[in-house]
Amino acid sequence: MPDFTAHRHPVLAVRCPDCRRAPGNWCRRPSGHMASDFHASRKAEADREFIDQHGPDASIERVGDGWAVDPRGRVGIRPRPEPSAPS
Ligand SMILES: [Zn+2]
Repeated sequence: MPDFTAHRHPVLAVRCPDCRRAPGNWCRRPSGHMASDFHASRKAEADREFIDQHGPDASIERVGDGWAVDPRGRVGIRPRPEPSAPS
């Protein structure tokens, strides 16, 4: 099971479906150069795994030198119904 807090970036917890880099390794361009960003498919895969593991209300945040999962981190940023106008 991927550990999203174990790496320098949470997306590093999953293998890249695109360039096949193993967990913990940054994405590579076909030229062999280190990519400046992760492949979109890897970010999608990390999202999916994260929600599988922690649920749709969880978020991951930078804490000091590492990362921490907040199980309710997304609750506050969900759109809420407008308060009804005073009559
Ligand atoms: Zn990649």
